[in-house]
Amino acid sequence: MFHPGDVIDGRYDVLGPLGHGGMGHVFRAHDRRLERTVALKVLRPHLTELDADRFRREIRALARLNHPAVVSIYDLGQGEHVYFAMELVDGGAFTDLGPLAEDPEPFAALLDGAAEVADALAYVHRLGMVHRDLTPRNILLTESGRPKLMDFGLVQLTETSRQLTRTGSTLGTPQYMAPEQATGDATGAATDLYAFGAVLYRAATGVAPFDAENDQAIMYQHVYHEPTAAVDVHPAIPPALSQLLARLLAKQPAARPDSAATVADALRAIRTDGIARTTHRPHAGAGHRSAYPTAIADAAALRPRWQVRLEEGPQWPAGMAAADGFLLVGQRADALAVLRPADGVVHARFELEDEVSAPPLVTGGRLWLAARDGSLQARAWPSGERAWLAADVDAVGLTATGADVLVARRDGRLERWGAGPREVRWSVDLGAAAATAATLHGHLALVVADDGWLHALDARDGAARFRVDVGAMAAPPVSAGAVVLLATRSGEVHAFDPEAHVVRWSYDVEGEAWAPPAVAERLVFMGSWGPRLHALHVRSGDDAWSVPLAHPVTAAPVVAGGVVYVANEGGELLAFDARTGAERARHRVASGAVQASPLPVGDALFVAALDGTVTCLR
Ligand code: ADP
Ligand code: MG
Repeated sequence: MFHPGDVIDGRYDVLGPLGHGGMGHVFRAHDRRLERTVALKVLRPHLTELDADRFRREIRALARLNHPAVVSIYDLGQGEHVYFAMELVDGGAFTDLGPLAEDPEPFAALLDGAAEVADALAYVHRLGMVHRDLTPRNILLTESGRPKLMDFGLVQLTETSRQLTRTGSTLGTPQYMAPEQATGDATGAATDLYAFGAVLYRAATGVAPFDAENDQAIMYQHVYHEPTAAVDVHPAIPPALSQLLARLLAKQPAARPDSAATVADALRAIRTDGIARTTHRPHAGAGHRSAYPTAIADAAALRPRWQVRLEEGPQWPAGMAAADGFLLVGQRADALAVLRPADGVVHARFELEDEVSAPPLVTGGRLWLAARDGSLQARAWPSGERAWLAADVDAVGLTATGADVLVARRDGRLERWGAGPREVRWSVDLGAAAATAATLHGHLALVVADDGWLHALDARDGAARFRVDVGAMAAPPVSAGAVVLLATRSGEVHAFDPEAHVVRWSYDVEGEAWAPPAVAERLVFMGSWGPRLHALHVRSGDDAWSVPLAHPVTAAPVVAGGVVYVANEGGELLAFDARTGAERARHRVASGAVQASPLPVGDALFVAALDGTVTCLR
């Protein structure tokens, strides 16, 4: 086998391993001749003639395929080593695009990625091939998050069908295997649709449709059990996607969608529809990535258009929200102000018993408001009529899950409330006061307590999943695909993998961190008391760029249209190119600190400062 430092055929410098599977080892290598980094797949030694046959089959299949979502083969090894060179695809597994998040950017990334895979399958099927081994690790992502179908070792070519199944062993990967493949029956294009459905189900919900102790038990379930509807696993799944997944996972091949092209069309329709809805939802706050769709064409051209002065402004990173064409500004002066974004006119003011204590939340036609006196109230939205008020709740943070709300409480309880008064669906004791709002990551609710423990619960029933000691946190975790970002108060950012329960990387931003990072374009943006703004690669934690700021940052940065906006304690609003860190704009918007994140809505950007001013830049 190859080792770093080896030179293969005088052309490839082996750099290190990339992975291995049933028949091959894959290495990162530098191609001296074309001066680029490639992946080399090498046949394992001591394999049977059948494996060698699979390897040749894969090479032949790849040589015939030419599609943007299928890995490209570059070169075939000749001589003593059996290998081929292909395009390097090192942006993670397809499932890293999920679990599905309601924020527009990750929502679009998952559905676009899925549609591209469906396009590739349609292409492969048109050429008379069936892949037969679709898994999250056989659909890898490029650095920019585009999927590439690979590992055609089990490909079935129509001219040589059905001679690859060895007696006593079924080829394929049980978790994603169609019933007809599990039972050794004839496979076809519909077999790939089922496997793709299983991969997409896993990507979108965070869990595979079936899981069990051993392969046999999983295959049994594929044959005999109905999967739980995806929307019942993860409420953020749009009903249309849940239905499409159910059809892809139909036991009978004939009951599945009639082609991969149909599936691609359906996925694009779900994407368009979902994005249209998501503009009405908040994109910052618990679990959100602070990435916004925007119509701001040029950050450098933004100018202050109006400014209004309320009594006092919001004190938290997510103190301002937008809902149905209105701005919601939580005030420390015992009220929530509802402003018209066009001119800043106060449309309504909802009086509270005390200061607003958590970012306002609109979901399921209700506005949820928590106040420092411990009360939690729900009002009809947008009329503002009070539906109910519950005393002594002491909510630290509110998180929407469908029309329900997760209430993280100072008394150490995490609860799921329905829309009715004190309609508590479940209630769990965390052992210490909740420090932050809960964050949804697929079906998991993640919440950090004051004692520094991160608790993971099943959001559906409150069942405990796991807990880990992460240290004191002031900002809620951020769900960022394969990892959850945890910004501790002491300024460490951990990328935690909630499946493997390991920290993938950590980064110290120096100084304290009060707000969650923003995530967009595969970068993590984190402001600190350093004072600096850092951009890190989400996969590795490596620096992309960082810029010094004149004042510390309490507010979470936000990203819109390739530009990252950050407001600081000196009342400045700064804009940087998300890719390069080049400064795009700088405005002094308030005389004092800004602690709420800037909010992009349409073609405008809103900044609410502690001094009570709300400024519109357009
Ligand atoms: P096998 O046929 O043995 O399953 P795969 O083709 O699936 O082999 O490759 C095994 C692993 O190697 C993959 O899961 C992936 O982690 C890594 N890998 C394969 N091809 C590439 C590639 N082109 N770029 C980066 N990593 C790759
Ligand atoms: Mg593989």
